[in-house]
Amino acid sequence: MPSYAIPLPNPPALPVVGTSELFPVRRIYCVGRNYAAHAREMGHNPDREEPFFFMKPADALLPSGSVMPYPPATKDLHHEIELVVALKGGGADIPAEKALDLVYGYAVGLDMTRRDLQGMAKTAGRPWDMGKGFDNSAPCTALVRAAQIGHPDKGAIWLKVNGVERQKGDLADMIWNVPETIAYLSTLVTLAPGDLIFSGTPEGVKAVVRGDRLEGHVDGVGDLTVTIG
Ligand code: MN
Repeated sequence: MPSYAIPLPNPPALPVVGTSELFPVRRIYCVGRNYAAHAREMGHNPDREEPFFFMKPADALLPSGSVMPYPPATKDLHHEIELVVALKGGGADIPAEKALDLVYGYAVGLDMTRRDLQGMAKTAGRPWDMGKGFDNSAPCTALVRAAQIGHPDKGAIWLKVNGVERQKGDLADMIWNVPETIAYLSTLVTLAPGDLIFSGTPEGVKAVVRGDRLEGHVDGVGDLTVTIG
C-alpha cells in the first residue's frame, strides 16, 4: 500500500437493497433535458436533439432520508426527480443493444439545482458546475439490483413537496432511453464500473424552501425522502 500525504477520503458509495454491501461510486453523469415537456418548460425545443451531459462530484451524494442543508449562494433551489442508473461495467462506443448488460441497478435521485446560478452561467456562456455540482446536490436512494427488478423502461416518476404533487411523468417519455443514453455517453467518455447516470427529469421543476419535505418515487425502483434544512 502506498502512503498518502493526507488521510484518504472515504469513497462515495450507495447502499444496495437486500444486501449489506455498498456500491462504490466513481463518477456522476447527468443528462440534460431528457423529457420533452421539461425541455419546453425550460424554453427549449423538445425535438430529438443530440443529448448533452454535465457532471456532479461523486461526493455530492446525500442518502435518502437526510436533511439537505439549504445550500449557500442561491435563492432559487430547484428539485429535479430522476431515475438513476448504476453501472457495473464500462467501455467506450458501447452499442445500445449491449448497454443494459452493463447496468448493475437503479435508484431514485434528485438533481438539485441552484437555478439562479445555472441561469447566470447559461447567459454568460459559463460552465454549469456551481449551479449543479455543489455539496449535497445529489440526494439518492439505495440501489435496487437489475437482477432483482429488471430494467424499468416505463412507469410513473413523480415528486411531491409537502404532500402536493409537483412533478409527474413516465419513464417511457424519455427522449433518449437508458440504453441509448449509455451508448451516446460512451462515445464521449470511457464509462467504468461505479459510474452513475442521472437520466433527466420530467416537467414541473420548481423552487423549494427550508422546511420543505420532498418525496420522490419511481415505479418499481423506490421512494426517496429529503427535508430541506
Ligand atoms: Mn436534471
